[in-house]
Formats: sequence, C-alpha cells, structure tokens
Amino acid sequence: MISQSVIDQVQMRADIKSVVEDYVQLRPSGRTLKCCCPFHQEKTPSFVVYPSNDTWHCFGCGEGGNAIGFVMKKEGLTFPEAVRKLAHKFGVPIIEDTTEQSEEYRQERLKREALFVMYRGVQKYFVEQLNADTPEAKEAKKYVVERWGDEFSEATGIGYAPDQWQGLVDYAKTHAISIELLKEVELVRHSDKNHSDYDFFRGRVMIPICDKYGNIIGYSGRTLRDTNTKGEKLPKYINSTNSLIYNKSESIYGIDIAKKEANRTNTFVLVEGAPDVLRLQSIDVNETVACLGSDWTDEQFAILKGYANTLILVPDADPPKNGEHYGTGIMKVIKTGKRALALGFIVFVKEIPLGENGTKNDAGSYCKTSQRYLDLLQEDFIPWYAKKRITAPEQFTSNSTPVDDIAELFIGIEQEHEIDRLINLLNEVVKGKSMWRKAITEAKRRHNEANLKQQSSNVLHLDLFEKFGFQEKDHTYISISGSTARPVRWSNFTLHPLFHIKDNLSALRLFEIENEDGDKSIVEFKQEDLISLAKFKQKIESLGNFVWLVRSEERRVGKECRSR
Ligand code: ZN
Repeated sequence: MISQSVIDQVQMRADIKSVVEDYVQLRPSGRTLKCCCPFHQEKTPSFVVYPSNDTWHCFGCGEGGNAIGFVMKKEGLTFPEAVRKLAHKFGVPIIEDTTEQSEEYRQERLKREALFVMYRGVQKYFVEQLNADTPEAKEAKKYVVERWGDEFSEATGIGYAPDQWQGLVDYAKTHAISIELLKEVELVRHSDKNHSDYDFFRGRVMIPICDKYGNIIGYSGRTLRDTNTKGEKLPKYINSTNSLIYNKSESIYGIDIAKKEANRTNTFVLVEGAPDVLRLQSIDVNETVACLGSDWTDEQFAILKGYANTLILVPDADPPKNGEHYGTGIMKVIKTGKRALALGFIVFVKEIPLGENGTKNDAGSYCKTSQRYLDLLQEDFIPWYAKKRITAPEQFTSNSTPVDDIAELFIGIEQEHEIDRLINLLNEVVKGKSMWRKAITEAKRRHNEANLKQQSSNVLHLDLFEKFGFQEKDHTYISISGSTARPVRWSNFTLHPLFHIKDNLSALRLFEIENEDGDKSIVEFKQEDLISLAKFKQKIESLGNFVWLVRSEERRVGKECRSR
C-alpha cells in the first residue's frame, strides 16, 4: 500500500497542465486551457483545464476531477496505479506502507472505497436532476447560476435533490447503487410507519463536500423553500451526518482545492460557509475554506497547519442585536482568532461592510470580483480585537481587564520582532508601549506557570523521550546511556508537539513527525498510544517511512521507567 504522505506529495506537485498535455494538446483560453475532450467525441472543444486550482472539467460529457482522476480515466488505472505513475513523473519517492494490517482494518478500507463509489453514483443523479426539464429543476438551476455562475457551478459538481420522497431511492435501484450504503450515510432513511425507504434531502441544491483528495464524502443541501407543506420553517442548510468517511469536526470544506494554493502562499482564508467558499474560489481566491460546524476544531486547525501558518478570517457582517456593538459574525471570528493564535498561527482579519441599510452581508455576496476581495482592509487580529474589546467592553464576558485579556493573545507568539511589531500597533489603540510589554510578560509568566503544573501531571511526551534520556541528532533519536557509552540509534525520525492543548478536555496530542530525509507528516496520539512502546511503534510505523528500532535495551529502559 502506498503511504498517505506519497499521495499528498503527488497531489501537491502534480501540475494538471503538464499531466493533460502528455495526452492532448491544450490551447490557452483566458485563464483556462481548452481542447477537444479525450473522453467523448466532439468537434468544438469543451474540455477545460483550470491551472489555478489544478482541476479539469468537460462541459460536454460532464466528467471532471484532479490530475490523479484524469490519469485513472485516461489509462484505465486504479487509484494506486495512477498515483504511482504520477509519482514517477513528478519525482515523488514511493514509500510503501508495509505495516501489517488487521482484517478489521482491511474491511474498513474496502467499506470506505465502496462509499466513495456510491457517492460517485449519487453525484451523477444530483447533477442530472439539476439539468432536468422540470419547473423545479429550472428554478434550482436559475438559483445556482445566479449565485455561482454557470461554468463554475458545473465544474464544482453542484446538483439538485428534487422535492420527491423516492427520487434517489428509485434511481439507486436502477443504477446498482446500494440502498444499504445510502442508508448508512443517511442519504436515504427508512420509515417504519410506511414500511418504506425515502430520500433524506428533498428540494435542496446539493453542494458536494470533498475530502482533501477530491473524493465526495457528503453534501451540504440548501433549501429553495422557506417552509414545508405543513407551513413549518425549514432549515436553510442541512449537512450530511457523520459516517465512516465524513466527520464534521475533521472535514474542512474546500480543502481539496485550497490546500495547494495555501501551501504555496502559506495562507488560508477562513469564511463562514460553503457558499462563501464557492464564491471566493470562483473568483480565484482558491485558498478559501470553511468548517461545516459552528466552530473550528483543533483537529481542523491541525490539518490547516499541515499546509499553512497564516490565516485570514473573513467574518459575516451581521447587524448587531439590540444594545450590542458587534454582530454574531464578528464574535465568532474573535473566538476563532483567539484559538488560532494560541495554536501558533499568524492571524489577520478582513471585515466586510454591512449590506444596504445595515442588512446582513457575507463574503459570498460581497466579494463579487477578486478586486473587491483584495480591496478589503487586512488587519492584524490582535490590534483589530483590541479596538473592539476596548470600544465596547460590555460585550465581552471576562474576569480580566481588557489589557490583560489582550496580552493573553501573545502567549502563542514567540518571535520578539513580531511581538514588537504588534506592540507598536497596539500603541495606536491604547498609548503605552511599556504598559503593553509589561502586561504581555506577565501573561506569559502566568501561562508558563500553569503549563509547568500541567506538564508535571502529564506523562505523555515526557515519558517517551525525556525520561528515557533520548537526545535529538539529525532528526533521529539517540541515547548515549548504557554500558557501551556508544550512541544508540532509536529512530529515523523526531517528533515535535504541534501545540499544547490548554484545556485538558481532549486526550489527543498532535505532533509533527519528521524523518532524516526531511519527510514530514502530522500524527495524532491518543493517550493509549503513548502508554506502551508497542502501541507507539505501531502507530508511528503506520505512517510510512518512520521507523522505531526495537532493541533488547528497550525492555530494560521500559522497566527502568516504570520503576521510577
Ligand atoms: Zn467530454
């Protein structure tokens, strides 16, 4: 099996233009490239390549995808075969994941594959329905085209679930799509009362949610009606429920397109919802993403960190409620920004203005052109927050003073020049550079004290490395203790905690792992992974080219450690 890091590398490096040009000749057409489709017969070119986000789409036969998908289709290869071929072309060394897989794990992989295939079938249905010759499909199509443009919507695979109870159920029966799998991801539900299966999404524009490799793993469905037949209010958006391949707290909407640009620019743009992502990506702000829950989770932040270290937050502009200064969009972004800073990101904010007569506005409706996006003032999060915090302290529930509260935000910032730069900006909000510096030093001291306390009760990282007397050398761990006094090599990698999770809610720890060849990956350990060396080794080696060398000494070291 090919390791995940190879697939990632291939996706990052594979340049769609050069992949497609191995088979057909492309002609420039605006910001895209065109040719006659290699997958169906045609005289006028409707096959379009998008170099800006490394995807392709044929407006004739409706096929589309990324570089791996193109090679799979063109050469009739499986996913791993296509990855191997592209790895060769773009000079990515193949690393085989040779960990023995349990039967359970193999079954799970097969199940995941089956779900991907099922979603591809379902996707065809939703796209057909959007283009159907019915009044409701025409209404849906009009909505979609007005909102995101004809070409972009089609290339993105936006579809429609008609307002019927049996549409998808019937389609599945005639197209060999498993009803059981549809039920598992709750695209279809069972009614005990009527003894029948029924479509879960009805009368909704269907926006596909993809994993980072571009596989569909769920949908976000936007209703076109405010109420149902009984007059009850319908939720505007319904998202897929969690499944084996979709987890709301880990999935990031737009990551399949955004990751490449983010990796290049070291920046992600965070907006509130999937429609905002669609709009910004349609105007070539490709590094835009959204979470599909109410708040960004630490798991999602860790994924973003794998590609970029800078975040630009674009809040919705909501009219403030009675007696308040700031709307919910601003308050949400404050929460996101604080957490992101604590996790070591560099954070900026781009505020959009309220709509006409102070109505709600969001990134999707405001940023009609890329210039409109670029013209938005980009502010450093900390001074931006400071202004808000000091102007309307009553809207913030906190036990500390505004200055202490703002100083807390420096805890994750280590570079002195960055601290100086921000103090200068804060000095424009509230005069007093030495006052700010003092408050920051004090906040850091308080934090370190609390951290030390936590660490002494925290056996995780310390146990495995520091307590064993390991030292780091050239991205490996060595130990010099023992009778021989010769350095003993223990690993071909080192681990570095990505961030400390301050609240002790989660027993999850995230580390960056880097081997001596410079291959990097992110690994998460649950508490139980770190208790025994055997479990730890199993976890590490499932990542690919990261090896923990088992030796007889290990048992001794383990014993020593336990006896302490
Ligand atoms: Zn075609």
